[in-house]
Amino acid sequence: MNQATVAYFTMEMALESTMSTYAGGLGVLAGDTIRSAADLKVPLVAVTLLHRKGYFKQHLDASGWQQEAPSDWDIAAHLQLQQARTSVSLEGRTVQLQAWKYEVHSPNGFTIPIFFLDTDLPENQPWDRTLTHFLYGGGTPYRLCQEVILGIGGIRMLRALGFTSLSRYHMNEGHAALLGLELLDEAAAQANRTTFLPEDLPAVRKQCVFTTHTPIASGHDLFPLELALQVLGRRELQEMQGVFCCDETLNMTFLALNLSHYINGVAKKHAQTSQLMFGKYEIDAITNGVHAATWTSPPFQALFDRLIPGWRADNFSLRFAHSLALDEIKSAHLAAKQLLLHRVFQETGLALDPHILTLGFARRATAYKRIDLLVSDVTRLNAIAASAGPLHIICAGKAHPNDHQGKEAIQRLIQVQGNLSPTIKLVYLPNYDLDLAKLITAGVDVWLNTPHPPFEASGTSGMKAALNGVPSLSVLDGWWLEGWIEGETGWSIGESCPIDPNLTDRASCDATALYRKLENEVIPLFYQDPDRFADIMRHCISLNGSFFNTQRMVSQYVIKAYFE
Ligand SMILES: *Cc1c(COP(=O)(O)O)cnc(C)c1O
Repeated sequence: MNQATVAYFTMEMALESTMSTYAGGLGVLAGDTIRSAADLKVPLVAVTLLHRKGYFKQHLDASGWQQEAPSDWDIAAHLQLQQARTSVSLEGRTVQLQAWKYEVHSPNGFTIPIFFLDTDLPENQPWDRTLTHFLYGGGTPYRLCQEVILGIGGIRMLRALGFTSLSRYHMNEGHAALLGLELLDEAAAQANRTTFLPEDLPAVRKQCVFTTHTPIASGHDLFPLELALQVLGRRELQEMQGVFCCDETLNMTFLALNLSHYINGVAKKHAQTSQLMFGKYEIDAITNGVHAATWTSPPFQALFDRLIPGWRADNFSLRFAHSLALDEIKSAHLAAKQLLLHRVFQETGLALDPHILTLGFARRATAYKRIDLLVSDVTRLNAIAASAGPLHIICAGKAHPNDHQGKEAIQRLIQVQGNLSPTIKLVYLPNYDLDLAKLITAGVDVWLNTPHPPFEASGTSGMKAALNGVPSLSVLDGWWLEGWIEGETGWSIGESCPIDPNLTDRASCDATALYRKLENEVIPLFYQDPDRFADIMRHCISLNGSFFNTQRMVSQYVIKAYFE
């Protein structure tokens, strides 16, 4: 019992659509990581926060403007309350913590527990009770308190639950970096000291692994040192400047970098970008993946079960998809497309024709993702559909409540509907979640991704599409630099456009490139050479589905970071 050796810390965790404990890719990756770790029988335990009121429910008003509502979910229906209790100190107050357990069961019988920390207890003060309510909600002090609970409270809860064999602590992004402070305190206590010393650092580093997930500045938490001192009440933060802070800030990324022996980015290009940002640390690359059995649609599951038996336990065997008959691929895809079109009909009353080329995209709506690039020149898009062939566009995604630009991009997509020619239909489905992601990534014909490089660290939804034989049409950034073979697994956009760190000038160049590819390559191929198109679909599965999965990814963490 409780023999886990690896503890995985994450601010968000996506397990089921009915558990609002995630916002986007970071949480989806965490959930897929746990599922594959269970399939590989990696002795792992995970810690996150309960997020009782979730991220938020998205409603789009008549003008296309996003409105948010709390997203309460039925905790007791999914999790079991544990007996163990622990506490953390916040601004001098003792805040009690309890934990709820969720178990991920692999078909092989292996189970991984996930503990959700909860401060909503009658013995805590009203504000402290709210600290595990909202994911990415509240202001800076709220976030810092949440990170104390995750990092320090998380370690203490694992101890209270009886995990005595832990030797690795994996920080999925910098939110959990304060776990290092707790490990330093433990090292001091073990040496019968009341405070830790620089000589305690190597032993802590040996135990810690840090994965950085974004080159975007706002993705790296910075807290004013004064606030950190007030919340944590620890003067060591100031005394060990080189470890905890610099320039009067507690920088969670630098803390994680300073306290880890193994650091990685989430794709090869992202590791290079991170290396430029964090010069003196050595940054390796482990490219993200997705959990194959979770993200393969029922029609392709049935096809693989029939003709590639064992693919769920051994994702590499998806390589043998290269020998599947094109008709099998076409009919499985048509079935997956019907499932998506059925959902579109239910939500909008629109009956879309399955024989029309359907483009899809869905992701967090935030500036660098440029979700509205496709409609940046509506006249051009209308002309393309008139000459090359009709188009359907199905999209989804939430903007963070404070992300005004993200909300504007959603609104542009919705308002542009009135200006599209009758040969183009665009549908924006609200409340993007795991279930909708499964339908969209599997059910469209081409997956579109137009981020501003180099800000897409990895991206994973194109990997979900690939498992379902859906090729990507994407800017060369993140994982796509590794998965892209032009005209074989999909198509690139804008590789000759200039690098522009200001997120502005590049858009029209990328848009022009996107329109050209659509007009000259993608649309003609889809309508005029369905066999060649199906051959590309087959390559997506055999070349990319077999590799860009979390089974390969977790194996790399095992080799490089967990048990080395
Ligand atoms: C996969 C997924 C994401 C992440 O998509 P990216 O392509 O990495 O941006 C976000 N939200 C949901 C619900 C997902 O399933």
